[in-house]
Amino acid sequence: MKRVLIIGGGIVGATIAYELSLDRRFEITLLDRSTPNEASTGAALGILMGIISQKTKGRAWRLREASLRRYPHLIAAISEQTGETIPQVQGLINLCFSEAEMETWQQLATVRHSQGWELELWDTAQLKTALPALNISDLVGAVYSPQDFQVNPQALTQTLIKASEQNGVNIQRGVEATEVSVTSNENYQQCHTVHSNEGDWETDYLIVAAGLGSFPLTRQLQQPLTLRPVLGQAMRVRLNTNLSETQLQRVITGDDVHVIPLGNQEYWVGATVEFPDQPVETPLDTVWEKARRFYPPLADAEILETWSGKRPRPEGQGAPVIEYLKGYDNVILATGHYRNGVLLAPATAAQVKQLISAC
Ligand SMILES: Cc1cc2nc3c(=O)[nH]c(=O)nc-3n(C[C@H](O)[C@H](O)[C@H](O)COP(=O)(O)OP(=O)(O)OC[C@H]3O[C@@H](n4cnc5c(N)ncnc54)[C@H](O)[C@@H]3O)c2cc1C
Repeated sequence: MKRVLIIGGGIVGATIAYELSLDRRFEITLLDRSTPNEASTGAALGILMGIISQKTKGRAWRLREASLRRYPHLIAAISEQTGETIPQVQGLINLCFSEAEMETWQQLATVRHSQGWELELWDTAQLKTALPALNISDLVGAVYSPQDFQVNPQALTQTLIKASEQNGVNIQRGVEATEVSVTSNENYQQCHTVHSNEGDWETDYLIVAAGLGSFPLTRQLQQPLTLRPVLGQAMRVRLNTNLSETQLQRVITGDDVHVIPLGNQEYWVGATVEFPDQPVETPLDTVWEKARRFYPPLADAEILETWSGKRPRPEGQGAPVIEYLKGYDNVILATGHYRNGVLLAPATAAQVKQLISAC
């Protein structure tokens, strides 16, 4: 059996651990310096914008499509194995504020149909029927993606970790990889030992899935991968008015702000982009204002909690980075997922498996 050491137990590392655990050729250890599911994944909203993304070809679309195809099976398998429930919201509505936007979505819908996926264009009358409480005064319509969905990223990661552990993966919480020892031959370098606050870990393959923590590790390996932390922010709110639950059962996105129904009159409201004009001291105000404008029932909602997180964006190359570290034949990077780590985790795991298997 080949020993595989994964550094990082966020959604990316956890998915890799689970998918590799299905292959009996590997003896897997996963290290996380905190509890897996903190860092970026702990802040994520879990919206899987695949079919509704503007990516239609090339690597960006292939990764999205691979994840969308794998997700239903993955969630079903780990839920059945562990007995855990992973909350999901099926369907995404993206609000459109101009005719030009609608035209772009119409073109995308045509492409998606040819690719075998569904996208519906709604006018304001259809929107009002589906969501009577929506403020349609700024809107010209919406695009509805019935096959995209949202998944609770924290529940998903915990369940992946639990299923991996049941499959024999050695999960080490509170273990920080601090140094890496390397040997060289004529052509390549190899990492053979990872040193940590809890001792040394020998390995045949090292997978760096440490999110923003990947930079210091790659610097140790003399191939620094620069990752810029990009702010994402969110809040959980509860409506005071007794709005029927049937009113909002899908994710709504408007102006880059997302509203996700959680049940019991509760919602997550958040943004996965930075707004350049937002005041640094009250960054969530912009998000909150935009959400209340298009979904007025939120106006008198109670804010139960707020949080922010940093997303790892690679500098000088596209997100995500899934490849052998330059100059090494046993170190694989699976990091830099920026805004789409939850969406792209299954495709990332599949690609990592291919890279290891090809070796
Ligand atoms: C507010 C917000 C909303 C978001 N919404 C979405 C969304 O809707 N959809 C979506 O797809 N994505 C979303 N994202 C992005 C998503 O959260 C990230 O892309 C994803 O979580 C990255 O996962 P990861 O496993 O690579 O990194 P992380 O979750 O950061 O995990 C890395 C892990 O590595 C560990 N680690 C680091 N260094 C070391 C070390 N030296 N030794 C041991 N362990 C180490 C850390 O403790 C951490 O647990 C959002 C992000 C934010 C902040």
